[in-house]
Amino acid sequence: MIIIMKPRTAEADILSLVASLNEQGMRVDRSDGDDCTVIGVVGNVAAIDESSYLLRPGVERVMRVSEPFKLANRKFHPHDSVIDVAGVPVGGKRLTVIAGPCSVESEEQLCGIAEAVKNSGAALLRGGAFKPRTSPYSFQGLKEEGVSLLEKARKRSGLPIVTEIMAERHIELFNETVDLIQVGARNMQNFDLLKELGKIRKPILLKRGLSNTIEEWLMSAEYIMAQGNPNVILCERGIRTFENYTRNTLDLSAIPAVKRLSHLPVIVDPSHATGKNWMVESMALAAIVAGADGLMIEVHNDPQHALCDGAQSLTSEQFAAIMEKARRLAPVVNREL
Ligand code: PEP
Ligand code: MN
Repeated sequence: MIIIMKPRTAEADILSLVASLNEQGMRVDRSDGDDCTVIGVVGNVAAIDESSYLLRPGVERVMRVSEPFKLANRKFHPHDSVIDVAGVPVGGKRLTVIAGPCSVESEEQLCGIAEAVKNSGAALLRGGAFKPRTSPYSFQGLKEEGVSLLEKARKRSGLPIVTEIMAERHIELFNETVDLIQVGARNMQNFDLLKELGKIRKPILLKRGLSNTIEEWLMSAEYIMAQGNPNVILCERGIRTFENYTRNTLDLSAIPAVKRLSHLPVIVDPSHATGKNWMVESMALAAIVAGADGLMIEVHNDPQHALCDGAQSLTSEQFAAIMEKARRLAPVVNREL
């Protein structure tokens, strides 16, 4: 952290600031220029509330020079992390595709989709059981029954299962049954939930919040990791902007940014990012080129009658077509599918 003092600050104010930093266990490196003094602060600056230093007499500016996330930071872990999801590696050279319906609706629906997406090359099956809906009157998911149907579909298809958790009270159930626990955009900053998920070892798929910065997203990963669970996979799913043609704005630039800042794998969800089935293909392929480690795509047996997110859902034939193109594209960017 660097503190820049205003020109002509009284020496007593500088000394008192330095003393207080030393009291907090910080090392201080002072440099006196012609106009102003600059104070370099080294130590556990993450624990300091830098804004309080702005209130000190003579302080002009306070700047952080290091990122506040440590365990998620590539600086301290230069190699890409590969997260094992029930035997499926996420990260590394191979792209991982997660596919399935927005919501689990019935056994026939889920098992049929599971078979189809597996045949096209999906490695993991998704399906919402507890649904975070904007309206309390909308379909809320089959809840525990949905999780049981996911287990059945896993048994029949052999695909590990991914589903969203919304409440701490479900952690035990999810830890026993689910292979990859999804934290949805709306819960990205549910810090109590994140902390509890840090106490288990199940991989966590952490979606980016609706209006969250990359740093906030990585800080949420840090919450999970700081409790001891290193198995975090990030998922970019579009953010809110002024543009309302699409459901969200897919932030493709977040992928190289996250890859530079962090060693965690990052996948892209072009379905929620666009809200339109006909845009999913181009955004999925673009995500691969941008360096994503995989995709999460919504597929439905009958999108017109889906209980949730039909407009962005692909038929299994449309999904198969994307997989075919992705398979041909992957080697161009030195990936496998
Ligand atoms: C989902 O993946 O089903 C979902 C609700 O996505 P998000 O949290 O990104 O809106
Ligand atoms: Mn959905």
